[in-house]
Amino acid sequence: MYDYLIVGSGLFGATFAYLANQHGKRCLVIDKRNKLGGNIFTKFLHGICVHQYGAHIFHTSDVEVWNFVNKFAKFDNFINSPLAIYEGQVFNLPFNLNTFNRLWGTVTPQQAKEKIAQQLASVSQENPVNLEQQAIKLVGEEIYEKLIKGYTQKQWGRPCDKLPSFIIKRLPLRWTYDNNYFSDTYQGIPSNGYTQMIENMLKGIEVRLNVDYFDFIKLNKNISKKTVYTGMIDQFFDYRFGELEYRSLRFDEQTFDTDNYQGNAVVNYTSIDVPYTRTIEHRHFSKESCSDKKKTIVTFEYPQNFNRLHNDPYYPICDDANNGLLAKYQALQKAHPNIIFGGRLGEYKYYDMDKVIKQSILAWNQEKMLLQD
Ligand code: FAD
Ligand code: UDP
Repeated sequence: MYDYLIVGSGLFGATFAYLANQHGKRCLVIDKRNKLGGNIFTKFLHGICVHQYGAHIFHTSDVEVWNFVNKFAKFDNFINSPLAIYEGQVFNLPFNLNTFNRLWGTVTPQQAKEKIAQQLASVSQENPVNLEQQAIKLVGEEIYEKLIKGYTQKQWGRPCDKLPSFIIKRLPLRWTYDNNYFSDTYQGIPSNGYTQMIENMLKGIEVRLNVDYFDFIKLNKNISKKTVYTGMIDQFFDYRFGELEYRSLRFDEQTFDTDNYQGNAVVNYTSIDVPYTRTIEHRHFSKESCSDKKKTIVTFEYPQNFNRLHNDPYYPICDDANNGLLAKYQALQKAHPNIIFGGRLGEYKYYDMDKVIKQSILAWNQEKMLLQD
């Protein structure tokens, strides 16, 4: 019998497994995929570290989390400075004085603020109730139309007035010439990829891949004292109140015979007329990793409707309807005190990597307290 059966080898599962193992607990990690790491899985192709499930840039302001990941990987300094292309014009992200200068020729923060204020004069934006209102309030009509509306509609598969406002608040708005997409204290990418980082976390812990929890548990009912579950919470409860909505992605990975396809790691295509949202050129994540100078790998991200029989859930759609449904599932959790639900899918939260690690550390600390009682 194991102390913990850990369902999912992503960041939540791996963090928990590492901490429990350090405290002498016997863990078994299972994953239904044939690879470790969940969505942070990376592989090397032509000497280039490829982020198979989308660009993953580690960023955090939490020193405990930063110290934690640095135990398992050497991080290369990387500042994410994506570009946005709209009808052939290139803009800097996040929205900052470079973006405003390109759009309007404004130079100072004051000039840019005045330009945005003029666009707000005709719209009432007291209390934004959806993403559209929130975006216009922050950056005005023109940026909304050119850089937000099309991208967001593609990304989420619904219009901006049907989306919660918090999504757009993920993007900083800067009154400086700073193209750093994130505002956190620490930022970087593991030199040898995330998969190696996860392997280091799981050293000495039993892992079984290609194992689906729902099949496995039928045959191994009493395999552990507790279970850490990082799959979809609605699936755990057999969708009894209905399905939570997720957004999926299709990653089209292409190899080109050049050492530089787009000149930047991340390029966003913000027009609704371009079917993909972003293109990721992986070699730009690391200056050193590319041994093959003649090849480059580019992933085109196509947002998709989620269908549990055909593709994977990548983004929870945390609007009021889904949050209401989530609350019903969370109420059922009380009847399962030996199951710890964690991570993006287990908690149905739009978490970044650092938040997932933090939640997992908190979950383990909670366990430690229970074990001491
Ligand atoms: P996951 O990585 O999804 O792991 C869950 C694991 O559980 C999976 O391996 C799955 O196969 C397994 N599983 C599920 N159900 C079962 C089952 N029934 N049986 C067995 N195994 C099961 N965050 C950042 O901080 N920076 C970024 O730049 C960034 N970019 C992102 C880009 C994209 C396109 C996406 C989708 C996410 C991005 N994130 C980023 C978020 C980041 O991926 C997540 O925060 C993190 O990977 C979630 O870890 P997790 O362990 O909760 O879930
Ligand atoms: N967004 C946008 N235009 C862009 C980039 C982002 O409108 O060029 C909006 C979009 O709604 C997106 C949200 O900002 O869903 C959050 O962007 P982020 O880059 O954080 O998304 P993620 O990396 O999680 O896909």
